[in-house]
Amino acid sequence: MKVHEYQAKAVLKSHGIPVPHGGLARTAEEAKQIARDLGGAVVVKAQIHAGGRGKGGGVKLARDPQEAYRHSSNIIGMDLITHQTGPGGQKVKQVWIEEATDINRELYLGIVLDRAQSRLVIMASQAGGMDIEEVAAKTPEKILKEAVDPGAGLQPFQARRLAFGLGLEGDGLKQGVQLITALHKAYVATDCALAEINPLVVTRQGDLVALDAKMNFDDNALSRHRDILQLRDTDEEDPLEVEASKYGLNYIKLDGEVGCMVNGAGLAMATMDIVKYAGCSPANFLDVGGGTNVERVQNAFRILMSDDDVKAVLINIFGGIVRCDLVAEGVVQALQGITVDIPVVVRLQGTNAEAGARILEGSGLKFRVARELKEAAEAVVEAVGGAPNP
Ligand code: GDP
Ligand code: MN
Repeated sequence: MKVHEYQAKAVLKSHGIPVPHGGLARTAEEAKQIARDLGGAVVVKAQIHAGGRGKGGGVKLARDPQEAYRHSSNIIGMDLITHQTGPGGQKVKQVWIEEATDINRELYLGIVLDRAQSRLVIMASQAGGMDIEEVAAKTPEKILKEAVDPGAGLQPFQARRLAFGLGLEGDGLKQGVQLITALHKAYVATDCALAEINPLVVTRQGDLVALDAKMNFDDNALSRHRDILQLRDTDEEDPLEVEASKYGLNYIKLDGEVGCMVNGAGLAMATMDIVKYAGCSPANFLDVGGGTNVERVQNAFRILMSDDDVKAVLINIFGGIVRCDLVAEGVVQALQGITVDIPVVVRLQGTNAEAGARILEGSGLKFRVARELKEAAEAVVEAVGGAPNP
């Protein structure tokens, strides 16, 4: 789950990481009042779940409350386009107004889980502020890394090595070690999936401040973090993905034309591969999970059909825990309850597969029944009108 910058900053602050004072505004009038209360120059920052806002015109310096008003009225309501949003951008509904910081240097600090090492890796770089992906691609030697042993935890020498590497000295070095340690603690305590401070700045006075903050949380751990779950902003998420999550369905939007309804993540991957191999691309994948029943199939179908990009549907279910005849009945009932005006290819395999196929074929409904995965993929590609792969 992603959160906004201002929310991530609140989490970091509660773990002792210094962040600028600020307030959240939904209108330009509110922004002006916050700027007045803060006093002095402020920065107006668009709050959307995407980075690269600065380059897209979503971060503006304002010298006085009037200017804060002007920038806010321009930014609130705009479709902010960054390299992380789609081409249409993301509508800005709120701005974070914070006291301007006198910047001397912009650094980078982040933590991710490195699956290859099975460890958290803390990354630090003096090349902060800009696109860290670009730094990683062009000048990887500018990124320092420390892998944390999960048993021993982050060692003080590792935090010191990173802080030295950031070119910090004297009191700044001490602050750096504390901040790195605090970020690691915050990451573990909140079951983060990604934590990033870019830029982490050294002020003219020599102090460290987190000027930007990004935190993604592990969805599977949210049940034990109610406070974090409350930070969810579904306005920022794909509406169909939000709808699917209401029914416990895993739905992921992709950019092709074949809607895929599958049970199990592994089968979903295989299905997408073979659709691609047959000459088309998946428009999405929808995992109905293990215990498929009529209602789930029906909801899944409704969600698949609401995606305008879907030109044909491929239902690929393996009857392991569920029986294929029950799935077939579910599909038939689901199709009877809703209007489906695009081709549907169904492939059932596993327990009672034959009985399932007979139910489908005898239903009088218009869909193609396939026995093999390859045959199903080719049928759906043909239905879309795509060219088969040579
Ligand atoms: P992002 O573009 O979405 O990553 O947004 P950031 O919060 O990182 O802001 C982009 C850039 O705006 C930063 O790298 C800074 O250079 C600048 N910026 C942000 N806040 C301040 C501030 O308080 N003072 C000054 N002078 N610049 C700021
Ligand atoms: Mn940033």
